Amino acid sequence: MGQVSRRTTLEAPGLYFAWGDGDLRHASFALDGQGTSWVVERSQFDGMLATEAARRGVEIVREANVREIKRTDDGTWALMVGGSHEGLRMARFLIDASGSRSAITRRLGARFESDDQLYAIVGRARGKRIRQSTFVLEATPLGWWYAVNLAEGVVVVAFVTDRIEFAEHLSVSYADSFTRLVKDTVYVREMCSDRFLTVNCRSIPSRFATPAAGVGWALAGDAALCADPISSLGIGFALTSGAGAARVAEAEIKGFESLAESYDSQVRKTFERYSVDRGLRYATESRWPSAGFWVRRRLQSQGSTGEA
Ligand SMILES: Cc1cc2nc3c(=O)[nH]c(=O)nc-3n(C[C@H](O)[C@H](O)[C@H](O)COP(=O)(O)OP(=O)(O)OC[C@H]3O[C@@H](n4cnc5c(N)ncnc54)[C@H](O)[C@@H]3O)c2cc1C
Repeated sequence: MGQVSRRTTLEAPGLYFAWGDGDLRHASFALDGQGTSWVVERSQFDGMLATEAARRGVEIVREANVREIKRTDDGTWALMVGGSHEGLRMARFLIDASGSRSAITRRLGARFESDDQLYAIVGRARGKRIRQSTFVLEATPLGWWYAVNLAEGVVVVAFVTDRIEFAEHLSVSYADSFTRLVKDTVYVREMCSDRFLTVNCRSIPSRFATPAAGVGWALAGDAALCADPISSLGIGFALTSGAGAARVAEAEIKGFESLAESYDSQVRKTFERYSVDRGLRYATESRWPSAGFWVRRRLQSQGSTGEA
């Protein structure tokens, strides 16, 4: 497999966290059995995977998006592709890895079971050029923050909060209110200047698709399961589910026994495990027993799963 460039990839040997009390503590990933973590520049990482797939014979179509899908009578997929390679393409098996927008999932007949919906406001500010990444996690009454250095001298700062807090505190101008809220943090603000180059907002559903595979199709990554980033599940699950979805495709194309059902059950089990772990993690922060964000996290961990 190709190498991710050292220029844009940094080792993150551990995590500083202010969670559960006001002190900043350090946890080493090596000591808790997880080994080293890496901070990767996403477009580079994706590029490396695409290059490796191409080397192994996969045809890569860049800067193209699937606009429409249709199934022909013999079960083949007809994909209307827009962008640089506009036109009709045919496929025997379809894997939807279109992320949390799940552009194609609903059209495949899958539905979502969801148990939470958070928002992340993500700012980028100038930081120092460094050799090792520092990752800081900080809980506050309105939600939690993280800040992480990227290799190119940029600090990414993210605030994860709930719909109600988001509406109350960030409705007027993301950039202004984000800058104001960063100042209320104790440790995250030490990592960045108060001038952000960009500030964006993303909704983060917590959900899984059911079923996650069927005849002629499978879902992978966020399209199959989307998680609260406190779980750090995202990229790891995207990689393992990508491999799982490929095995479902291989079995079907080669006429072996279908793996769709067992893949679907693995996705569901991953979500169940994630829900329990997430509840345990939030339960370790009890400083604000009546703050809305933390009350809702507590209720959710006791919780119900609803249709999205
Ligand atoms: C604030 C925040 C912090 C996070 N922190 C972490 C973390 O620390 N660690 C971690 O592991 N995960 C983290 N995650 C989660 C992680 O980002 C996702 O789980 C991961 O990106 C999922 O990968 P994916 O490839 O499934 O989807 P995406 O990364 O969303 O990629 C989907 C791709 O599909 C393309 N696409 C969409 N529609 C179409 C279409 N119609 N045709 C063609 N292409 C299409 C998109 O352009 C995109 O390139 C975080 C998420 C958020 C929001």
